[in-house]
Amino acid sequence: MLLLNAGRGLMFVVFVTSATEATAAAGPARITAEARRVRTFEPHLRDLLEEGLRISATLRALVDRLEQSDLVVYVMSDPRPVRRVDGRLTLMAAVSGARYVMVRIRELPHPGLVLAIVGHELQHAMEIADDPAIVDAESMAQAYSRMGYATQAMPSGLSFDTRAAVEAGMQVWRELQAARAEGADE
Ligand SMILES: [Zn+2]
Repeated sequence: MLLLNAGRGLMFVVFVTSATEATAAAGPARITAEARRVRTFEPHLRDLLEEGLRISATLRALVDRLEQSDLVVYVMSDPRPVRRVDGRLTLMAAVSGARYVMVRIRELPHPGLVLAIVGHELQHAMEIADDPAIVDAESMAQAYSRMGYATQAMPSGLSFDTRAAVEAGMQVWRELQAARAEGADE
């Protein structure tokens, strides 16, 4: 799902990451608190996303494509989830050379579900990345009334969804289940 109201203005200006944290990352870590297009500051989410990237080709493709975009995607857990909304993406700001979006994921009973919702929301991020005209709530509403459909998910404000995002989430879920089944065979 995707939200149009930017909500309370979050500050994405000053982040401090210790040098040890930056250099301790072993292997092809793609989710970091800095320098990458898809970011999280929550260690459990970072570990989960890294694992998801090892397993799911769909997640890898989305993150790789976002790396080439002007989007910066912050993924965080949702401390105040909305009823029946597992994940939501909000456009926070568009400044010269970069657009910032926030993905919030509610607490879910299974880590695979979290990754499926992340896949769903990263597909929305790609949709925004592919449309440079999306810079605020109004342009986002225009774009999504063309490429998506309105939902009644939010008690207030407009929200949209797309078939592509629903499919991306399901595809991530299928890939995780297939990997699990393979692991169980061994
Ligand atoms: Zn959606």
